[in-house]
Amino acid sequence: MVFDVIVVGAGVWGAASVEAYEKAGRSVIWIDDNDDEHPTAASADIARIIRAEYSDPAYRKLAEESLQSFKTQEPYSKYFHQTGWFLIQDEQQARHGSIPSGTEDVAVEEFRRKFSAANVDDNLFITRTENVGWVEANNLQQALNAEIRVKKRRGTVTDLIFDGRFCRGVRLGTEDILGEAVVLATGWRTNRLLASHNLAQVDYQVVGVPVLGIQLTDEQYMKYRDMPILCQPGRGEILPPTAQRIMRVNNPRSFHLNSSSAAPTSLSPTHICFKENWDFLGKYFPDLVDRPAVISKICWDALTDSQSFCILQVEGTNNVYYVGGGSFHSWKFRPVLPELIAARLGLKGDDNSEELWVLLTQEQSKKHADLIPTRRWE
Ligand SMILES: Cc1cc2nc3c(=O)[nH]c(=O)nc-3n(C[C@H](O)[C@H](O)[C@H](O)COP(=O)(O)OP(=O)(O)OC[C@H]3O[C@@H](n4cnc5c(N)ncnc54)[C@H](O)[C@@H]3O)c2cc1C
Repeated sequence: MVFDVIVVGAGVWGAASVEAYEKAGRSVIWIDDNDDEHPTAASADIARIIRAEYSDPAYRKLAEESLQSFKTQEPYSKYFHQTGWFLIQDEQQARHGSIPSGTEDVAVEEFRRKFSAANVDDNLFITRTENVGWVEANNLQQALNAEIRVKKRRGTVTDLIFDGRFCRGVRLGTEDILGEAVVLATGWRTNRLLASHNLAQVDYQVVGVPVLGIQLTDEQYMKYRDMPILCQPGRGEILPPTAQRIMRVNNPRSFHLNSSSAAPTSLSPTHICFKENWDFLGKYFPDLVDRPAVISKICWDALTDSQSFCILQVEGTNNVYYVGGGSFHSWKFRPVLPELIAARLGLKGDDNSEELWVLLTQEQSKKHADLIPTRRWE
């Protein structure tokens, strides 16, 4: 059988692509090599922040539309927790940062009343925004995927099969799977597939973020379960604990990886790369630094040079497409990605899509300057 399209990758971009093609009535085969735990997928995690706070107006508008789905549309709303966030910024970030300050100021005394043990520097500005939350990413992804009727195949695509510029399909073990088009939603591993054919690489860096998840006691869970997200751009993010009593600490000071090097995922929580996560946790929650870490991993993602999404035809091919990228921010757009993909890949006529796309991808509107790696993973 020759499928209309082969979608490789089952993260948020792959799932959204499958949804777009399915809705357009195309025959699709969906391939991914992760097991249910998705250890190497950027989309797979217990929690992701969902917000509409962007300085860039086009991103803000799209994020607002998406956030509305998280709040009101099943199954999104079942897994979304609107906790609000406290944004902690220095003067420069408050004036010119990629994340606009919140809607209300929070006095340091008020912050200390909420987080009594926290150490807060007096020169920082704290603001609150209510219209922010977090999503149980793995649980939502499972629920969304259960609604997709397309058959999924487990396996690693080791090669693309070309006839000149035309890609006839993909190689899965000893089997060739044939299709009229191939969508690579393979995240940070995409260029490894393209490299073997000397095709132009997609403009992204492989970038990793150290992530810790610490196990709280029942008492600590009760104390912190309704807390807002704490976000200090360039320093860290602390998310409220999940129902499994796990509190996540992200360190945005990322690492750059050579595109051909091995990408470690799980590491010991005492590994030096987590020191900044522990320090950040200790600053705001000194009472929690002796808790055991049940997650300690580097989460790799594709950071595109423009920091914007990519939906493009791979240069030198007639029918291979790449979808993904951005700057560590696509999860929150999951509800609106199928429409965006459908418009860009010609699955529907949409007069406004070109204008929106130009605005979303304009070079000068950097989304997350803080996330650009300044160090290499050795
Ligand atoms: C630590 C961290 C925190 C983040 N926080 C947020 C946040 O708070 N809010 C937000 O909106 N976004 C956030 N993001 C960004 C977002 O999670 C990612 O950008 C997005 O999930 C990437 O999705 P993807 O589909 O492109 O890639 P992935 O999720 O990596 O999916 C790619 C899939 O392709 C499969 N694959 C690759 N190669 C092959 C192959 N050859 N054969 C078969 N299968 C293959 C992989 O196994 C994987 O399942 C964060 C990202 C990270 C890393």
